[in-house]
Amino acid sequence: MTTTMHDKFDLLLEQDPDHHCPGLGKDNICVRLVAMAELPTRFGDFHIVAFENNRDGKEHVAITKGDVIGASDVPVRLHSECLTGDAIGSLRCDCRDQLEASLKAIGQMEKGMVLYLRQEGRGIGLINKVRAYSLQDDGLDTVEANLALGFRDDERDYAVAAHMLMSLKIESVQLMTNNPKKINQLTQYGINVTERIPHIMPTNDYNRFYLETKANKSGHMIDFHGKEHLPEQSDLPIVAGMTREQIGSMHE
Ligand SMILES: [Zn+2]
Ligand SMILES: [Zn+2]
Repeated sequence: MTTTMHDKFDLLLEQDPDHHCPGLGKDNICVRLVAMAELPTRFGDFHIVAFENNRDGKEHVAITKGDVIGASDVPVRLHSECLTGDAIGSLRCDCRDQLEASLKAIGQMEKGMVLYLRQEGRGIGLINKVRAYSLQDDGLDTVEANLALGFRDDERDYAVAAHMLMSLKIESVQLMTNNPKKINQLTQYGINVTERIPHIMPTNDYNRFYLETKANKSGHMIDFHGKEHLPEQSDLPIVAGMTREQIGSMHE
């Protein structure tokens, strides 16, 4: 399987070494395949595929499981980068839980992938996210803070994700999401979404975290001033063993 992926990847690169196209979306996004390598992780054995955005130079990666190039009905999770959550374990959001849950789930599948999109802080960038957190420390909620910094509430766009899927010649995807907006965006960009897989977090670890957070009423979805935090990943998580109402109440 490893050789297959490498052979197929080399072929993709050979066919279109200096890829350029008119692009997708309002910013005419175009990404280019650059390199692929094996990536064993604590969640399973993956490959990492690196892309470069031809327009802004940003680097994005696909974390792929199994032989996905040219495949149909590939389970796909879109994850927007969150340095503070993903890497540092910040409790101001639940990004790391969502990322780990998706890697664990896909790591056990025959094939699938997580597209790790470099749109930090709902698209406003790391420094502006920290600025927004600072304003929240002073009592503004996330929406007010982003507006105060001159950003719309959500600057994310999934044109990059759609192009990455096209670059890998993915025929159709099963999107792991609880958010119909993601499906609509990808469909508009020409991706064939055959199914939606609910993004469900495993019971024990995550339930405890959510319940503790709710009990503390701090840091996570509700801050010290009682203001809500919008989740940076646009999905409301589904936690096994909890009702949608229980989870939703933590995001309200
Ligand atoms: Zn392109
Ligand atoms: Zn986050």
